[in-house]
Amino acid sequence: MNNQNKGIHHISIISGDPQVNVDFYFKTLGLRMVLKTVNQDDPSTYHLFYANGEGQPGSSITFFPWPMAIQSKPGTGQVSTISFLVPKGTQDFWIDRFASRDVPFGTPIERFGKKVLPFRDPDGLNLELVEESRIDGIPAWKDGPISEENAIRGFWGSVLWLTQTESTQTILQEVMGYELSAKDDDLTMLKTTAPLGHSIILKKESEAVQGKTGRGTVHHIAFRAKDEKELAMMRNQVLEMGLSPTEIIDRHVFKSVYFHTPDGVLFEMATDGPGYDSIVENKSDMGKLLFLPPWLEKKREMIEKRLQPIEAD
Ligand code: ZN
Repeated sequence: MNNQNKGIHHISIISGDPQVNVDFYFKTLGLRMVLKTVNQDDPSTYHLFYANGEGQPGSSITFFPWPMAIQSKPGTGQVSTISFLVPKGTQDFWIDRFASRDVPFGTPIERFGKKVLPFRDPDGLNLELVEESRIDGIPAWKDGPISEENAIRGFWGSVLWLTQTESTQTILQEVMGYELSAKDDDLTMLKTTAPLGHSIILKKESEAVQGKTGRGTVHHIAFRAKDEKELAMMRNQVLEMGLSPTEIIDRHVFKSVYFHTPDGVLFEMATDGPGYDSIVENKSDMGKLLFLPPWLEKKREMIEKRLQPIEAD
């Protein structure tokens, strides 16, 4: 099966203060801000997108910063951990960087043959760096604070925490293009052959753990569709499984469909194009100006006044 265009598209998280968020993802982790826009459901707050140098699908982590959001923790039925892909041999560099910047990190582990460094962001979000030897052609952000040899390339994958793994596994295999790769006790590993976002680990828990959506937790995880035609096909497959997908929604940088899995995880399916560079004249302008969808453009002055100013240089 050719599934090299399949995998994670983006992951979206609820965070606290936007400047703290920028300082961490832009300055400490060295991701590139590729889109600065507003939360379309609450235009007095931001929606911030960070990615690798090219803003590729499989590299973008997005945040809804609400300074007043209640601190939370993941439970079952949620994405519990987000894994970034880093080049092989860079774990010591990152340990030094985290130690010097007071970033909380855990003991490195080995999982399914890969070196994994767990750490947390300022809102307590569970993150990890996974070393991968296959990084040819995946662009780092060259103008960022991290040298290319050490830089994060995008997502390696993520861990989903579930009480039942069967239905999520079926959706990932039949709709999202993943294949079963390995099993180890309570962990099931699913993979695609994409350079980024290719690994999903389903972690089975015997009893439900109550989680709440809030600051420091994942809001949704999006998977790739090649184009709108494939998105419509995938939406049909989800319908045929008896689930309730939304209509196709135009997010301007991609088109999206959302649905809840039977395990309670909010999934999105999103097209690869038109992409973050489609709304700017030059690629170098990605993320620099505040982008507003056309229906909010006439309110720009008021919206800009209400947004907390953030510095991203
Ligand atoms: Zn999304």
